Amino acid sequence: MTDSRRVLVVYTGGTLGMQLTDRGWEPGADLPGWLDELVAADFPGLRWDLVSLDPLIDSSNAGPRDWQRIIDAVREHEHSHDAFVVLHGTDTMGFCAAALHFALGSMGKPVVLTGAQRSFVVDDSDAPSNVRGALRCSLDPRFSSVAIWFDGTLMAGHHATKISSEDDHAFDSVNIAPLAVLTDEAQLVFTEEAAAAPVARLNERPKPYRDVDLVVLTLHPGLRAERLAAQLTPPPQAVVLRAYGTGNAPDNDPALLEALSAASAAGSVVVVTTQCPHGAVHLGQYAVSQGLLATGAVSGGDLTTDALVAWLTFLVCQDLSPAQIRDVVREAISEGQRRRAPD
Ligand code: ASP
Repeated sequence: MTDSRRVLVVYTGGTLGMQLTDRGWEPGADLPGWLDELVAADFPGLRWDLVSLDPLIDSSNAGPRDWQRIIDAVREHEHSHDAFVVLHGTDTMGFCAAALHFALGSMGKPVVLTGAQRSFVVDDSDAPSNVRGALRCSLDPRFSSVAIWFDGTLMAGHHATKISSEDDHAFDSVNIAPLAVLTDEAQLVFTEEAAAAPVARLNERPKPYRDVDLVVLTLHPGLRAERLAAQLTPPPQAVVLRAYGTGNAPDNDPALLEALSAASAAGSVVVVTTQCPHGAVHLGQYAVSQGLLATGAVSGGDLTTDALVAWLTFLVCQDLSPAQIRDVVREAISEGQRRRAPD
């Protein structure tokens, strides 16, 4: 297969290029040499270039500044290349994919992240099929947004999350259908979701990601108000609150809700997601969620924890006020719900 398009591969690290050392798996295998052979064999004539981040990392070490390093690499080659493949560790790939969706979604060029559960140096590695699939998707004219390709499935970058620490099927598309799937006949079939995939409506040149003071808090039976209050002191810029079901929190402990109200009043943007692997938040659906709603917390709709961490980091980095961020979230979530509502 030949293609006139030019692809940039951004290699960040992750299991797919790791070698086994006496400390365990870490980056260092000859990924560039392996990739050269794979591309020559499966994509003969393809024009492609490789940029490796320095240092290569296990994605457990990744943070907003690493997302920005990837974005900078893509932006630097935005006019010279047509498609981008990001090779990334699986542990935090869901967060990174969402971060790239918010920062690069308006670019109009495909950005496909992939990785592997086992390094290419291992006989039964899933790296070759994942990298082949990611390259194939990046070259497909039917696709031009930010997504994760894994185990035969293309998933929107702001809806994909890691669901298994071991299985080849390591990622799930949460709350929306996959964008495309590979059939048993090796056909790449795009779904209606791909056509409807919302492009992040953002400034052409958003401000860069930087470290922000954000915390993810998980409610659980028996959580003490003092513990919650301690986690909210000093008030973080943003809080992703993992509540129950459709966005429920206990309303029988006033001190617990008071801790959340105090954080919101002090400028924390508190966004509620669900601990359930699937489904959306509907604040107010149950009487028990009225207390949480009254604290000033806003609904994160059907977005995952990964997506909300990336989105809130993105919004804080745009130097918006807490009130502006809440408005952006409320508006985007209710617009998303309208779009999905059946006519
Ligand atoms: N710890 C590895 C990483 O995220 C896991 C993987 O790549 O599968 O970099």
